[in-house]
Amino acid sequence: MSAGVRIGVVAVQGNVSEHADAIERAAAATGHEVETVEIRESGVVPDCDALALPGGESTTISRLLRLEGIDEEIIAHADAGKPILATCAGLIVASSDARDDRVETLGLIDADVDRNAFGRQVDSFEAGLDVDGLADPFHAVFIRAPVVSEVGPSVDVLATWEDRPVAVRDGPVVATAFHPELTDDYRIHRLALFDRLGGDAGGDTEAEAEA
Ligand code: GLN
Repeated sequence: MSAGVRIGVVAVQGNVSEHADAIERAAAATGHEVETVEIRESGVVPDCDALALPGGESTTISRLLRLEGIDEEIIAHADAGKPILATCAGLIVASSDARDDRVETLGLIDADVDRNAFGRQVDSFEAGLDVDGLADPFHAVFIRAPVVSEVGPSVDVLATWEDRPVAVRDGPVVATAFHPELTDDYRIHRLALFDRLGGDAGGDTEAEAEA
């Protein structure tokens, strides 16, 4: 069992308990002791080893992050090389450009995104995705999901759907267009948050599956 880690779930808007649950399951699987904390104000992020930036409404989330002064703290966290998992609206906020003036992006990922790219008629759908670093497909739940429309050279595309990137990594930041917290499968949380924190890797990453 490795030393305890503190993981913050940004909670300025929306429901965050599913992320905390997934983080706790991933921690148990990797032999980490974890404390999850909800972040609604500045001053908490600097004490976190890793962060989750959940979905919701990216316009609202970005406005509240700025209002509370959490935005600069998240940027400093990423600059320090500490892990972040950003999902759905979190991906939009973490991007470089959401092509929407109402979203103040944080530029954590060198990528542009299109909000609601799958169109209003396709409000939500589910798909089995091959994800780089996971041995078996991941059951992905998309809800009014964005897609990544352009990526810079520092970005690795981890998964695509219909030839469009829906999971990416840029250094310490992993971002998904889908909601990995909405199934019991914690492998994306493990990949994004715990594999970089060290400790017992546990589970079925590709390296282990091939070993
Ligand atoms: N469509 C939302 C946005 O643009 C994101 C949806 C979600 O997080 N499920 O912010």
